[in-house]
Amino acid sequence: MKAMVLNKISSVEEKPLQLVDLPDPVPDSEQILVRVSACGVCHTELDEIEGRVSPSRFPMVLGHEIVGRVEKLGTEVTKYKQGDRVGIAWINWACGQCSFCLKGEENLCDQAKWTGMDVDGGYAEYTVVSEDFAYPIPEKFTDLQAAPLLCAGVIGYRALRLSGIEDGKVLGLYGFGASAHIVIQVVKYKYPNCQVFVFSRPGQKEHQDLARKLGADWTGVTGDTPPAKLNYAIDFTPVGASVREALRNLEKGGRVVINAIRKTTPIPELDYAEYLWHEKEIKSVANVTRRDAQEFLPLAAEISIVPEIQEFKLEEANEALILLNQGKIRGAGVLNIL
Ligand SMILES: [Zn+2]
Ligand SMILES: [Zn+2]
Repeated sequence: MKAMVLNKISSVEEKPLQLVDLPDPVPDSEQILVRVSACGVCHTELDEIEGRVSPSRFPMVLGHEIVGRVEKLGTEVTKYKQGDRVGIAWINWACGQCSFCLKGEENLCDQAKWTGMDVDGGYAEYTVVSEDFAYPIPEKFTDLQAAPLLCAGVIGYRALRLSGIEDGKVLGLYGFGASAHIVIQVVKYKYPNCQVFVFSRPGQKEHQDLARKLGADWTGVTGDTPPAKLNYAIDFTPVGASVREALRNLEKGGRVVINAIRKTTPIPELDYAEYLWHEKEIKSVANVTRRDAQEFLPLAAEISIVPEIQEFKLEEANEALILLNQGKIRGAGVLNIL
């Protein structure tokens, strides 16, 4: 099979992914072999390439927003048949027995494996996964549309859930890329009386236009003071400064949720009285559970979420990642692998 592999920690500007031929993976008894048709491009790949989180071996096939069709079944597979369309997300496997797994917090399992970091992912023509960690894709979506739902969508949904959002309140979104543009559609559907304020980087006019088209009540740049205090903020940016900005604009008793596996720059010093007192909270989001995906995918179909897609060929993965790093992808970048 054709695959784009990462051989070592590198700068994304050096176009580190290399097109190679690999043997087709072989499913074990509980796994399915999936012919990949689409794979979304995620900030986590930038973190892996640049070493903020490291793949557990090299070469590694990155990519964890995978859509494809079941081509072969392990001998004990019962949930899928050949030809079924499935999605694969960031969580690839969890032990099922530790205290976290038993509480449904498999996203915190010490032994969990992550797609495209511990096992080969979706920047390739084929991949394998346990049948328990694949999801049916609602018919409403094309393969390319469904791909970003599997991380940008699912983790955005988790972040929104962890914010504790209630209708009628004010939500701030810092960064308006693949995840936030899906989250705003969920908010507008489930919490129609919430106001949503969107903060992007200076110069990202396209992101602000898209935010307004999707119902943002106000748009500005990080550093701006919005027309009202935020009851909740979700920070999707790769930088630390936006955490302090969100806290500065936060209402008393509010919560900032940080949706990032790593930050590229530190969070600036937080003066306690100014940024944290009055019961302000900070919560990070770590990974996803199967439940997040199982709940979000049908909801996305019910809402008729329309992911904005910028399409690339498998061979163009480096270029897609460079554009992502520069904040230049409108909506979500997706590799078309057919
Ligand atoms: Zn991701
Ligand atoms: Zn576990």
